[in-house]
Amino acid sequence: MARKAVVVGSGPVGASVARRLAERGMSVLLIEAGAPTTPRQARGSASPPGSHLRNEPGLADDPTAFFEALLERCRFFNPKASAEGLPGAAESRNFGGQGILWTNNCPELQARLDRWDALDDRGWEERYAEARAVLGVRTDLDAGGVLGRSVAERLSAHFAAAGSTRRAAALPTAARRLPDGRVHWTAPADILDDLPPEVRSRIEIRTGLEVRRLERRGRTVAALVLGSGRLEDFGAVVIACGAVGNAMLLHASGIRPYALGRWLHYHPLLFAQVMLDPALCAGADADSAAPGPRLFVAPTAQAPWHSMFLRDIFPRLPDAEPAPSRRTLDFQFLAPVVPRAEHRIDFEAAAGLRFEVTLSEEDRACVAAMRSDMDECAQLLGRWRRGCEPQENPPGFSHLMGTTRMGRSPENSVVDPTGRVHGFDNLFVAGVGIVPVAIAVNPTLTAVALALVSADAIAGAAGC
Ligand SMILES: Cc1cc2nc3c(=O)[nH]c(=O)nc-3n(C[C@H](O)[C@H](O)[C@H](O)COP(=O)(O)OP(=O)(O)OC[C@H]3O[C@@H](n4cnc5c(N)ncnc54)[C@H](O)[C@@H]3O)c2cc1C
Repeated sequence: MARKAVVVGSGPVGASVARRLAERGMSVLLIEAGAPTTPRQARGSASPPGSHLRNEPGLADDPTAFFEALLERCRFFNPKASAEGLPGAAESRNFGGQGILWTNNCPELQARLDRWDALDDRGWEERYAEARAVLGVRTDLDAGGVLGRSVAERLSAHFAAAGSTRRAAALPTAARRLPDGRVHWTAPADILDDLPPEVRSRIEIRTGLEVRRLERRGRTVAALVLGSGRLEDFGAVVIACGAVGNAMLLHASGIRPYALGRWLHYHPLLFAQVMLDPALCAGADADSAAPGPRLFVAPTAQAPWHSMFLRDIFPRLPDAEPAPSRRTLDFQFLAPVVPRAEHRIDFEAAAGLRFEVTLSEEDRACVAAMRSDMDECAQLLGRWRRGCEPQENPPGFSHLMGTTRMGRSPENSVVDPTGRVHGFDNLFVAGVGIVPVAIAVNPTLTAVALALVSADAIAGAAGC
């Protein structure tokens, strides 16, 4: 295979693939449909294109301004759809994709709970370690934080007293503390630019260029059809256009295995804010340089949802009661949805792309149990801030998955365990759309871990 690869899509997953291919000595063309624009709120920024919006002055400490900037970069597919039509489903067409506005939470899937058979346990551990290094994932963002420690101790003591194995721990996060105390959030600009110059020089980036179709010749993709022109000079192609974008591109190219767009799943997300018990905050003010708690309680078989306790995520709501600063804590809880073949993207609906995901009894029972758990945790740590009681994000906003699911059989999957599309030698799919099973944790770290497997398979085949 030629030593040149094309990566389509510049989000965190596409950027990670491009980086690994370049590190392996390949030359890479990274094609991005969107422009390297910044939203209104960050104009005049000194950051390179593809940087995280939360690194911008004015957005860093103002969740409301950040949320407005974020919405400006979200393109909703069917905002007026019913809940089953996923009104929250959205994509971000800009250099860096959703990686310039994500929340950077990077937990792992767990052995014997929600990993699938793409890798053995050792393989998962190794790939997660590599993915954490690429994304700069750390658990020391709130190191020394008094409040975070008190909250974690209170939650963990409560679970232990109830005989549960659940524990609160530092949430792995793709970010680092700068010497002046501010937080730098990882985005595609960091993934691509934090490389030795000779490696970075192997990556050519072209923005504002949409790939419309892939042209097939036998078992290979022979050409990419662009908005204007064609591209033929490459060995392998990795599409990393997001869970919906990847499925759309395959469909537009006539690559339509049964599983394409099926077994669609997402994370019902409940968010809320508590007013903390003053006893928990004693001594915490002295610690004001810390960004604040960033904790999670991992899913278990008995409580299969993902619980996060964070600061500065919650935008100002019009009816929120006044709250002293550093006396509140944000809750974000994600529930798994069991993937089913009938949950799908209808690519040919009269009104354009249409989603169909009807939560089953089992899914709804899980969301209800998660909601009760949130109430219990809130009572333990304080009480709901009035006007900020739990509410659900529009269905589909968080983590659409499964659209190009991974598996061993072309009858019920789109890609094999290396991310290669069944029936092709040089076409790979990278992104959270490959996740074939119900998971509760944020999926990007897992997608990057498996995208590195694809990159290594490509480099290996090219003799790099
Ligand atoms: C508000 C928010 C918070 C989030 N927080 C978290 C979190 O804490 N943890 C987590 O794990 N995940 C989180 N996510 C999800 C995370 O952002 C995505 O999983 C991640 O960005 C996916 O990366 P990607 O590279 O696969 O795709 P994307 O980031 O979606 O990038 C895809 C890119 O492909 C480009 N593209 C699409 N089609 C074409 C085409 N035909 N030709 C050329 N280019 C194309 C797009 O313009 C885009 O730039 C969050 C998402 C949002 C919106």
